Amino acid sequence: MTQQQTEGGDVRLTGISKTYGSFTAVHPLDLTVPQGSFFALLGASGCGKTTTLRIIAGLEDTTTGTVSLGGRDITDLPPYKRPVNTVFQSYALFPHLDVSENIAFGLRRRGIRSVGKQVGEMLDLVQLGDFARRKPHQLSGGQQQRVAVARALINHPQVLLLDEPLGALDLKLRRQMQLELKRIQTEVGITFVHVTHDQEEAMTMADTVAVMNGGRVEQLGAPAELYENPRTTFVANFLGTSNLIEGRIVSTGTDVVVAAGGGKLRLPGGRCPSSAESGGKVLVGVRPEKISLTHTDDAAAIPDGRNRVAGRITDSSFIGVSTQYVVESPAGTALQVYEQNIERDGRLVPGAEVVLHWNPEHTFGLDAAQH
Ligand code: ATP
Repeated sequence: MTQQQTEGGDVRLTGISKTYGSFTAVHPLDLTVPQGSFFALLGASGCGKTTTLRIIAGLEDTTTGTVSLGGRDITDLPPYKRPVNTVFQSYALFPHLDVSENIAFGLRRRGIRSVGKQVGEMLDLVQLGDFARRKPHQLSGGQQQRVAVARALINHPQVLLLDEPLGALDLKLRRQMQLELKRIQTEVGITFVHVTHDQEEAMTMADTVAVMNGGRVEQLGAPAELYENPRTTFVANFLGTSNLIEGRIVSTGTDVVVAAGGGKLRLPGGRCPSSAESGGKVLVGVRPEKISLTHTDDAAAIPDGRNRVAGRITDSSFIGVSTQYVVESPAGTALQVYEQNIERDGRLVPGAEVVLHWNPEHTFGLDAAQH
């Protein structure tokens, strides 16, 4: 291993952009991927995540900007000279080579003859010791994917780039492989940058997620932070179901008070757009599983201090782990509620008058202008 390969460091994109003719696939963006992190680029098809990944790999030139790794500018280095490797969705295994030979390929190409120990370590890492002599067509999709990961890791890259690596797997296997990749990343400790359009996948695996939209990073943060405190309606909707209620700000401060949903709703000041001021419009959001549902007849028992919105149930469905309700508020907004109470209240059926209530801490505010 060369000195260069043992050095780690953050991946830093500074002002990188990519245009194809008059079309801008990636608008100028700055992004830092901390060393050793599991970082996800998340977004819908065409948002520029693969282009961003390929720029890190050196497979795509940048129109503007620089790429550095551990403080060293690698913008003009060809892909094979970067201490970076990529795993593609297609795996791209050599069909005529067995698992061991596929994994050893990168070492052999560099002229290294004694590969047994390192291949053995990689087989252990991806738990394929019993499959070393099989050819790719004798493996399941998940096993092939693990071979592709081992093959990419054997050269000890500083950064592993994963481009929708689980996209070809069925849902159950994909969920298993998400945990498996996370375990492998923790074990090897190098930086993983993972491209996916699946929000659950990004949230399960990544320490940090960059949500991309239209060639821009809309928001960057830890999964829980993005989920609980989205800063744009796009992020709020992309990461799950969001109940957005239009309102007008009554007062600002440590808590912001908003007239919305036929009453007053409170939210922490830090969860409101920085432009929020009294009299201004805002969208108040809350996730469905944070809301409790109480029949109007029992509304007096709801503890003080909770945000409340009255409404009528228009739909309910029992899905095992929870009952999902749709509640229409007097303002006409349809709100989703996922209620996990074990003892179901038999009165909570379509047509029932109810009060939705939740802890104000679970409330977020969004700029109404972007809705
Ligand atoms: P997907 O999940 O579908 O792969 P993505 O978010 O990874 O989408 P990119 O592959 O980065 O998106 O592409 C971003 C945009 O740039 C798309 O609109 C795509 O059509 C466009 N694009 C990508 N490569 C080229 C190219 N070589 N020439 C012209 N346009 C391109």
